[in-house]
Amino acid sequence: MEMTFSGRARSALTVTPNRPTSQRNDSATAMPVLGERRPSSILPGRILLVEDNEVDVAMVRALLAESAGRSCHVTSVGRLADARAYLLSAGADCVLLDLSLPDAEGLETVEVVLATAPEVPIIVLSGLQDDRVTMAALNEGAQDYLVKGQVDGESLWRSIRYAVERKRAEVALRHQALHDPLTGLANRPLFMDRLRAAIARLARQSRPLAVLVMDLDRFKWVNDSLGHDAGDELLVATARRIERAVRPTDVVARFGGDEFVVLCEDVDDDRNALVVAERVQGALSVDFSITGTQVRVSASVGIVTSREPAAKPEELLRDADVAMYRAKELGKGGCEPFDTAMRNAVQDRLLAEQDLRRAIAEDELLVYYQPLVDLSDGHPVGAEALVRWRHASGEVVSPAQFIALAEETGLIRGIGDFVTRTACEQLARWNPVAPSGHQQPSLHVNLSARQLIDPGLVGRIARFLASAGANPAQLCLELTETAFLVDEATSLTRLKALKTLGVRLCVDDFGTGYSSLSHLTKFPIDVVKIDQSFTAGLAVRARDTAVVESVIALGQALGLVVIAEGVETQAQADLLSALGCHQAQGYLFGRPGPQANLLHVSTSDKKSA
Ligand code: C2E
Ligand code: MG
Ligand code: MG
Repeated sequence: MEMTFSGRARSALTVTPNRPTSQRNDSATAMPVLGERRPSSILPGRILLVEDNEVDVAMVRALLAESAGRSCHVTSVGRLADARAYLLSAGADCVLLDLSLPDAEGLETVEVVLATAPEVPIIVLSGLQDDRVTMAALNEGAQDYLVKGQVDGESLWRSIRYAVERKRAEVALRHQALHDPLTGLANRPLFMDRLRAAIARLARQSRPLAVLVMDLDRFKWVNDSLGHDAGDELLVATARRIERAVRPTDVVARFGGDEFVVLCEDVDDDRNALVVAERVQGALSVDFSITGTQVRVSASVGIVTSREPAAKPEELLRDADVAMYRAKELGKGGCEPFDTAMRNAVQDRLLAEQDLRRAIAEDELLVYYQPLVDLSDGHPVGAEALVRWRHASGEVVSPAQFIALAEETGLIRGIGDFVTRTACEQLARWNPVAPSGHQQPSLHVNLSARQLIDPGLVGRIARFLASAGANPAQLCLELTETAFLVDEATSLTRLKALKTLGVRLCVDDFGTGYSSLSHLTKFPIDVVKIDQSFTAGLAVRARDTAVVESVIALGQALGLVVIAEGVETQAQADLLSALGCHQAQGYLFGRPGPQANLLHVSTSDKKSA
C-alpha cells in the first residue's frame, strides 16, 4: 500500500517525548541537533511502515500527512517477510516497526530488519504495555520508539529525523572504528571479521579463498627522504591502485605502516591468486608522482590459499606473512606462495630461539680465548674473547650457528653483556701476571650492529669495567663495518661515547664489507683487523696480497694498529711481518680455547710454534 504525502501545518495536540533521557542528551550534544535548521537533504523520503493493524496504519499515515512542508513516500506492509523483501528490493530511509506481527514477534522483528538493512534507522511503534520490550529493542539497535496513541504529527516527524541522524552518526562511528583513517580501507578488525566469514563460507563452496599480504619495498625511503606527508600521499595512492587491480568484491585492508592485505574469495585455483598478486604488482610498478617527484615502488607479496572451513584466520594471516618475508628475502618486488616448509622453518627458528633464551638463562654460554701476538717478536699481546654455547647435549656450539639468530631476536644483548662482563673480569685477573716490559694485554670483544644502537650499551660496559676493576684501555671492542651503516649518526655518537670510557675500537673483518677509507677516518677507530679470507689468499692470489698490502699501508698511514686474522702458516706470518703488519691471530699461534692463560707462554715458544 503506497501513498505520497505533502502535509500542511497543524497545531500539535499532544507531544510525548518518548526518548530516554540519555538519548535526548545525545541528541542535544554529540549528535547533530534535530530541527528545522538541518538541510532538507536529510529529510527521510521513503518510509516503510511495518504494521498489520489497519487502524494503526491509517493513523500513522494521517499523522505523517498532517506535518507541513514535508513530503514523503510511505509504503506499508503487514508482515515481516514482506518488509524484508521490500527492503532488499527497494530500500527505505526509515522503518516504522510494529513489534507484534503475524509472522514475527518482539525483538526478532528488529533483528531481522537490522540484518536485512543494517544502515536503515528503525523506530519501534509500541503499545503502552510494551515498555520492557521496547527498551530491549533500543538496545538491540532501534533508534527510537513511539507509543501508539500518544503521538502527533510533529513528534512523529521529529522522531523520524532524530532516528535518521542518530543512525547516520552510528554508521559514521562504525565506519571510523573499522577503517583506516588515512586510506579509508578496511582495518585489521574489519578484515579479520570478513576473513572469518569467508572461511565459514568455505564449507559451502569448493573454490578456495586467498589472502595476500603485501609490503612496499621502498616506503621507508620515501618517508625518510620526501617526508611524512609524501609518505601518506603514497600510501593513499597505493591503496587506490590496489583497489583498482582487484575485484570489487575482494576486501582490501591496510594494517598500518606500508602493509596492505587483500582477501579474495572464490579464486579458481592457487595459480589464480598468483595472477591477482602479479596484477597488483603490475599496478604498483608504474611510477607514482608524489609532491612533484616521480617515485617508483614495488611490493613484496606473500600468498596463502585455503579450502579449509576449519582454518583459523590468524593462522592464515601468519602464513601469508611468513611467505611475504620469504618474498622479501629473495629480493624486492617478489611474490611467494606459502608452503609448509616455510612454516617448518619458522617453527624451527622459534624452537632455536627458545633454546637460546634458555641457554642464556641457564648459564650455558662460555667464553673461549684466542691469542693475539705481536708479529715483530711473536709475544702475546692479548686475546679475542669468542662466545661458545655448551649445549645440554655436551656439544660446544660455534657462534656462527647462533649469533645471527641472536641478532635478529635481540638476544644478542644478553650474550654481549655476558661476554663483556666475563672479559672485564678476565682482564682484572690478567693484570698482575702481565709480562714485565710489555704493554698490558688487550682483550678484544665483538659487538654486533644491533648492540651498537642500544642506548644502554655504554652505561652497561662502564659498569662491567668498574665492577670488575678492569682497565678500560685494555678492552678493545670489535665491530664490523655494517655497524657503522645502520644509522651513521647514532653509530658515531655511540662510538664517541665508548671512547670517553677509555676503551679502544677495532674494525673487524676489514676488506669484506665496504672497506671504506672514510669509515676509518670518520669514526674514532684504533685498530683494523684484516679479514682471514685475505690472509688465506696471501702469496696465493695476487688480488688478496694487494688488499693486505694496501690495508697495512692504510693502517700505518692513519696511525692504526693492524692485525691480520686467520694466520695458519709460518709463511703467512713472515710475509705479514715483512709488510709491516703489527699483530696476528690464527691457528698458528693458538686456537680459541677455554683457558685464558696464554700470557704465561713465553714468546720464543710462540715464534717457533
Ligand atoms: P670474528 O670476530 O672474525 O672471529 C674470528 C673467527 O675466526 C673465530 O671464529 C675464530 O675461531 C676463527 N679463526 C681464528 N683463527 C683462525 C684460523 O687460523 N683459521 C680459521 N679458519 N679460522 C680462524 P668463531 O669463534 O667461530 O667466531 C665466528 C664469529 O662469530 C666471529 O668472527 C664473530 O663475528 C662472531 N662472534 C664470536 N663471539 C662473539 C660475541 O661474543 N659477540 C658477537 N657479537 N659476535 C661474536
Ligand atoms: Mg672479531
Ligand atoms: Mg674477524
